[in-house]
Amino acid sequence: MKIICIGRNYADHAREMKAELPTEPVFFMKPDTALLKEEVFYHPDFTKDLHHEIELVLKISKAGKHIEEQFAHKYYEEIGLGIDFTARDLQAECKSKGLPWEKAKAFDNSAPIGGFLNKKELELQNIGFDLKINGETRQSGNSKDLIFSFDKVISYVSRFVSLKVGDLIYTGTPEGVGPVKPGDVLEGSINGEFLLKVRIR
Ligand code: MG
Repeated sequence: MKIICIGRNYADHAREMKAELPTEPVFFMKPDTALLKEEVFYHPDFTKDLHHEIELVLKISKAGKHIEEQFAHKYYEEIGLGIDFTARDLQAECKSKGLPWEKAKAFDNSAPIGGFLNKKELELQNIGFDLKINGETRQSGNSKDLIFSFDKVISYVSRFVSLKVGDLIYTGTPEGVGPVKPGDVLEGSINGEFLLKVRIR
């Protein structure tokens, strides 16, 4: 499986990153070795500025390519929560040199994943989600603020990259990203339902 991540998909986050609003989806990938299904995350020693990015995640349930937007809803059944951990200092260095971001985004365990909900339980254009750190809310977002909808993202990505069953699409983070440190406990929920926990060591 592969992990596809959408960048700058919430205007408030693009602004906090001082990035321009995209006119078409921006995506990058993480390898399967980035997936973290356990609770404990060991802070890597190559970054001094590890950031949390809480994101709604689509689980692809049907293989496809060149998927038309109007049919994209048939390609996922479940929506969950994940964190797109980002070594912000390395990313800034890569960006300043015009280099790819992979080492800042694709490192081992950089994609914690929590539980999933059946999309039938959700109002897709109004999914609230948030991230608490040590009990304090740091990020809260809603799918109504997505620049590119789930269906648009699936359609767009599948023009370039075939989707397979089990692939995950991290759909972008709302504003409020910031650093984490050993000892922090991260908890994510969708519409108030707890789905994800990560302890930083
Ligand atoms: Mg992200």
